[in-house]
Amino acid sequence: MQCPYCGKEMLKGILSGDGRSNVCWKAGEDKTGWADSFLGKGKLTNVKHTLTSFSIETYFCAPCKKMIFDTDIQR
Ligand SMILES: [Zn+2]
Repeated sequence: MQCPYCGKEMLKGILSGDGRSNVCWKAGEDKTGWADSFLGKGKLTNVKHTLTSFSIETYFCAPCKKMIFDTDIQR
């Protein structure tokens, strides 16, 4: 994948972390709250979960410090 900012080839990799909770996103300045989380609101799709970790396939551009990955947000 080419970086949309500089046009260079991006590095393919896996973004990963703690698997205890969903990976969420919410517009604005506030993080996902308990009620949103309970309803599954803001949960990212395309995230692979195990009991101890999560992972997302991503592309990274080091010069631009940008990361891109496919996902959708549950409403
Ligand atoms: Zn770039």
